[in-house]
Amino acid sequence: MTYAWIKLPEPPQGRMWCVACVAFGKARINKEYGPQIVALENDGKDENFLFEPQQFPHLELATVRGLCAQLQQFGIVDLCWTHVAGVEVRAVSPLDPAFQQGPPVPAGLLKGGRS
Ligand SMILES: [Zn+2]
Repeated sequence: MTYAWIKLPEPPQGRMWCVACVAFGKARINKEYGPQIVALENDGKDENFLFEPQQFPHLELATVRGLCAQLQQFGIVDLCWTHVAGVEVRAVSPLDPAFQQGPPVPAGLLKGGRS
């Protein structure tokens, strides 16, 4: 099995690429080079193969920490401004009837305390 190592530009000293940019770029590389990588894995040799994709994926530096809408399963990660999810906070008014009702009362219990 020849192991294919992908060579991409490193981020500047002390900085990191956006996790989403890297994940999406790597997916594109896998799609483009997947058949060649699989062929190398099945060649029966024991070697390393270093290759540079002809077209580098666009990578932004991570500038914020947050949630990426497309990669929510990753949790909180370092992202560029493009890939950080925007979250709209919706206030709950105490005058909202749904808020005043409280949680549902279990069957068999009466609402309103002791009698
Ligand atoms: Zn990004």
